[in-house]
Amino acid sequence: MVSGHTKVVGVIGSPVRHSLSPTIHNAAFEALQLDWVFTAFEVAPGRGDAAVEAMRTLGLEGLNVTMPHKAAVARTVDRLTPLAEALGAVNCVFRDGETLVGDNTDGAGFVAALREEVAVDPAGLRCVVVGAGGAGRAVAQALGHAGAAEVVIINRSPEPAQLAAVLAGGHGRVGTAADIPAGELVVNATPLGMVTARDIHSSRLPVDATLLHNGQVVADLIYHPATTPLLEAARAAGAVAVNGVGMLVHQAALAFERWTGSAAPTQVMADIVRSELERRARAAG
Ligand code: NAP
Repeated sequence: MVSGHTKVVGVIGSPVRHSLSPTIHNAAFEALQLDWVFTAFEVAPGRGDAAVEAMRTLGLEGLNVTMPHKAAVARTVDRLTPLAEALGAVNCVFRDGETLVGDNTDGAGFVAALREEVAVDPAGLRCVVVGAGGAGRAVAQALGHAGAAEVVIINRSPEPAQLAAVLAGGHGRVGTAADIPAGELVVNATPLGMVTARDIHSSRLPVDATLLHNGQVVADLIYHPATTPLLEAARAAGAVAVNGVGMLVHQAALAFERWTGSAAPTQVMADIVRSELERRARAAG
């Protein structure tokens, strides 16, 4: 039961009402019988800095940060981890005493999910990342850090692609669709294929499906729908296909551990996400 002693954590974003984070974290708190509660705060664009001050004033234990506040929060917290500083983006704020520390668990969450879900380690792999926004940059950095043989970035706009390639380290470079067939791991970090309220039956593909083949691992960061047009095409081509649920769970688990100091119950978190996504898919018809 929530009481005056209950520790409060939340996600800030806009829009944020459909966030899965409250479902994931409250299930984890309950599983570990922690007197903590997680909620979602709709924070208008431009008010991310005020939300960090509110965290301080209200004594919140931590925050998850989602669009459009990741860069603003990185400029507002007291301290950044070296990773969050390199990315210029924060997806998680935790306390170190009175100091508010900004971190980013997206890339590590992606790599952890790959290892757990499809037993794939990026070390030594030729990787292609399509998209170079916040998530694409975090994934590119994490793949480079994990020892990928090559991290090729393909993006609509050249400047973010260049930035992501630099973040990937010595083996990062900007590429084109012609690099996809040689990729052993192909990652979609664009929103193409995502269900949106406007475009519920989107069939858009981020890459030409004829470039995919048997022997590749194709990862989509999207988790709604569970099977995107890209993952469907990848399976049809004989590739191993993996969606964004695992990344969602593992980035959350890493944030949970920063806040509570306890090992996250990842299986509980994964189960609740999958059942909530199935419920939403049924409700959407
Ligand atoms: P973002 O910062 O807005 O970046 C979007 C990227 O997609 C940019 O590189 C953009 O290219 C590209 N893009 C957008 N529309 C495009 C189009 N019509 N054609 C070609 N490229 C297009 O978004 P983000 O935060 O990185 O998120 C990207 C995806 O990852 C989203 O689907 C998000 O839901 C997912 N995600 C999943 C998780 C998870 O836990 N599974 C976590 C974070 C994000 P330009 O640079 O040219 O604009």
